[in-house]
Formats: sequence, structure tokens, C-alpha cells
Amino acid sequence: MADTATTAKRQIHVIDHPLVQHKLTLMRRRETSTTNFRALLAEISMLLAYEVTRDMPVVMEEIETPLRSMRAPLLEGKKIVLIPILRAGNGLLDGMLRILPSARVGHVGLYRNHATLEAVEYYFKVPHEMGDRDAIVLDPMLATGNSAVAAVDQVKRVDPRSIKFVCLLAAPEGVAKFHERHPDVAVYTAAVDERLNEKGYILPGLGDAGDRLFGTK
Ligand code: URA
Repeated sequence: MADTATTAKRQIHVIDHPLVQHKLTLMRRRETSTTNFRALLAEISMLLAYEVTRDMPVVMEEIETPLRSMRAPLLEGKKIVLIPILRAGNGLLDGMLRILPSARVGHVGLYRNHATLEAVEYYFKVPHEMGDRDAIVLDPMLATGNSAVAAVDQVKRVDPRSIKFVCLLAAPEGVAKFHERHPDVAVYTAAVDERLNEKGYILPGLGDAGDRLFGTK
């Protein structure tokens, strides 16, 4: 019974909007410059913000327009915390903050041990009192799933009201591993690609998102 309920929660939302798909294709191209890659990721993250907040609760409030009064919807609480996984997750942050300017920001520092592909944590900082906040964890690539699982493990320790995971690209292996551990956390992505290669990169993918974003290669 509990298992059935949990399995039903393994949600993946693929954002197939033409604007998102077009920008993603530009980002995948080998010849796209760091400047353009960064700008495109910021643009896509605004569109992803729109989708990930689709079910945000609103409350009706009495307001005055210049002509008359009315009851109109406003976001309830606005208690969102954006939590990028360092370092590539920062690429999704600026666009999200443009849509959600009052969101708080936490950070999870993880790096990938290139031999084992395991995630190693080196930093964790989020606002105090997470109990009434909705956490949105950000990382452009859901590849092996190790970083995403480790980051959400940490975020669950501080017990936010809800958690969602937003990425740009996912591998089927990563989605499976992530939902094995966190079936209650919905994943939002622009695409699910074919598979991982032997080094844990997504195929066809877009290469190393951090290097392309920061121009470090
Ligand atoms: N991280 C990246 O930046 N790219 C991949 O393809 C996989 C993990």
C-alpha cells in the first residue's frame, strides 16, 4: 500500500515548450560560445521557473484597481528557497531569481570523484527555519544521479515543506537512481537524453555544463 503510493509519486516533467527546445538545441551545439551558453541557460531557467511554480498556491485578496475593487490572486507566502548545486547549478540561478525575486538562496557544494563518480560534499548552507519553505534544487545535468541524490539527502535533513529538482538535461539512468532514493521529489527537465557514457557524461548531451558555463576548458 505504502509502496504503491510512493511509486505513484515518481514524477518527471519534461518541458517540451518550443522555446525551451530551441534554446536547448543552441546550447548543445559544440560551437556555441561560453557567452551564448550562459545567456541561453539563464533564458531557459526563466522558462523552467515558470513551469516549476505552476502549482504554487495563491490566496485571493481584496485590491483596488483605479476603477473599482476586486478580489485577485496573489502568491501565498512566497517562501521559496532556490538551492543550486555548486558549481554548475549557479547557471540556473539568475534566471530563476528574475522570475522569483523574493526567493531565498541556499547552496550545496558537491564535486564528482572522477574515479568513482560518487558525489563528495564540501559545503551546505540554507536559510534557518526551512520548515515552511519550498525548496527547489538546481543542477543543469542529472547524469549518474549521485549529486542530485546527495544534495536532496542534505536538503531533506533540514526538513523543508516541499522539494523539487530542476535540471536542463537528464539521463534515464540518473532519473531512475534519483527516484529510487527520492520518489517523492518531482523532477523538471527540458529533455531526457539517450544514456550515459562510460565516464558518466550524458549522450548526446551538451558536454561539461560547468566548463561550458564558466569557460574553464
Ligand atoms: N555533468 C556534465 O556537466 N555533463 C554531463 O554530461 C554529465 C554530468
